[in-house]
Amino acid sequence: MRRLQLISTLLLFSTSRNMAWRSSGSSNAELVENLRKNGVFSNQRAYDAMKAVDRGDFASRDPYEDAPQRIGYNATISAPHMHAAALEYLQNHLVAGANALDVGSGSGYLTVCMAMMVGPTGTVVGIEHMSELVELSKKNIKKHHSEMIENGNVVMIDGDGRQGYAEKAPYNAIHVGAAAAGVPKALTDQLADGGRMMIPVEQKDGNQVFMQIDKINGKIHEKIVEHVIYVPLTSRDKQWSHHH
Ligand code: SAH
Repeated sequence: MRRLQLISTLLLFSTSRNMAWRSSGSSNAELVENLRKNGVFSNQRAYDAMKAVDRGDFASRDPYEDAPQRIGYNATISAPHMHAAALEYLQNHLVAGANALDVGSGSGYLTVCMAMMVGPTGTVVGIEHMSELVELSKKNIKKHHSEMIENGNVVMIDGDGRQGYAEKAPYNAIHVGAAAAGVPKALTDQLADGGRMMIPVEQKDGNQVFMQIDKINGKIHEKIVEHVIYVPLTSRDKQWSHHH
């Protein structure tokens, strides 16, 4: 009886998961094609960016599955459908020559996709508080995109992303890849006028929402766009203790 219950629970779980995360492929090209076919995104530049950046350089296991993968240090590379969604929401802000910030840059995958969209005259700063991951991301990027680091289109910083990175502010686009308890003021301060931030925020009930934050004529406009699941935006120590 207990066994049957367990089996039906597992079936239910895997069915709902497969329906939401259904874009897996056997190659990077197939994965990105499936994401577009399934309507996860439609922007051509976002599609081209994800096509040009091989997720296999950034995830050592099952890189073309539409699921997050562990990258060590209690962090994950986010699921492809979330990367696609983030680029779609930020499409009008990740334009040629734009300046962008990727908070919790982890594997470095999305930082490079963002850099593809802003092109050789733009800049993307990735900030990550696990120094080991900063090193890993640079190694990942150098597999096929070392010119981005050499030319300064991508800058990887070891630091607390809740403070943003004032040195290169203001930013036309900010992406946050970990769920915050609230929207850090430093980040809204560092958003350029006309800029957009996409950030997962944890609500009181423990659920997380993806928030779209626009700064228009100096005023902040917030909108909840979907429900999401991210690892927490936290301190280095807390992230470690989660682990043990
Ligand atoms: N966007 C990345 C990583 C997502 S996981 C990718 O897709 O590969 C979230 C990342 O945020 C982790 O690497 C974690 O170490 C980092 N992180 C969590 N809190 C942070 C903080 N306060 N400052 C900087 N990075 C943080």
